[in-house]
Amino acid sequence: MIVVDKERIFKEIQSKQPASVSLNGPDGILPQVQEAAMDITKKFGIPAYVLADTTWGTCDLNSNAGKILGTGIQFNIGHTINTESIEKNVVLIDAFDDINFDRVARKSCEILSGKTVSLVTDSQHLHQMENVKNILSNNGINVKIGKGGGQLNDGQVFGCEFYPATKLKEEVDAYVFLGQSNFHAAGIALSTNMPTYVLDPYFNEVREVTEFAQKLKKKATLAIYKAAEAKSFGIIVGLKEGQLSKLFALKFKKELEKEGKTVQLFALTDITGERLNNLKGIDAFIQVACPRISTDNQFDKPVLSSPQANALLKLLRNENIEEYFELPHWL
Ligand code: SF4
Repeated sequence: MIVVDKERIFKEIQSKQPASVSLNGPDGILPQVQEAAMDITKKFGIPAYVLADTTWGTCDLNSNAGKILGTGIQFNIGHTINTESIEKNVVLIDAFDDINFDRVARKSCEILSGKTVSLVTDSQHLHQMENVKNILSNNGINVKIGKGGGQLNDGQVFGCEFYPATKLKEEVDAYVFLGQSNFHAAGIALSTNMPTYVLDPYFNEVREVTEFAQKLKKKATLAIYKAAEAKSFGIIVGLKEGQLSKLFALKFKKELEKEGKTVQLFALTDITGERLNNLKGIDAFIQVACPRISTDNQFDKPVLSSPQANALLKLLRNENIEEYFELPHWL
């Protein structure tokens, strides 16, 4: 069950006395966000709006919605990072999953026996790291937790940011992700090129995602080779506040033009196949917003993320592109 730190929300409202508030969180915890909004109105008698658009991470707070609604505080729930507020009037609130990992951790000991592993997880399971570390260590497994970096706490990863994992690459045999997210675990496997396991406490399952990650890489590499044949490119700047990267877009434009390609610039909030199909005369796209849009979705034409676009430039210059995902941060 997801537990939202409502005490913190109440304290903020008591001290700042806003006339209204807004709240948002990842799709998976929207029921808890709704419940928190109802509790706020009951306790303080003020309007509490649930922002029901997506918020994929601290890169996508949708703080503009709070501004349009004129709310005094926007609570973004469930995207814990190593700071509590990253924008004026936006407060980041922790949400933890209280599922117990004991059973699945013990189950993993046979598979992980004799290995040195690095534990990694998403924000919802950070508080379970020490417990799992103890279970594995008591069963003879050498466990390391990588130091935080960028916005990340120790052992934490995002879908595109992996500092605690990549820092330990030379010291471990495998990575062990706590939670259910193949999405995060595959990112770790791609950024480290190492075996990666998921400890899923809900299904009591230990699964390896290395092969799944390799399939994602194959698809991404194929898109790079297809894009190399393109004559006209569309470069898309993402309009989500934490994904705005005009400098990268302009850099790619300049480099591709040097290679004799024509380039048109676009800007989009949600980069979907449907929106791209409206754009004519473009053979391939580069999007400099969330890299996982390119790796985890299907498009009719190549749509490259920033690491793929860097690989494309290398390919056009006949350079090796082998390790293009092996970076601590893909943005
Ligand atoms: S993977 Fe995408 S949504 Fe997640 S933090 Fe990175 S840019 Fe944001």
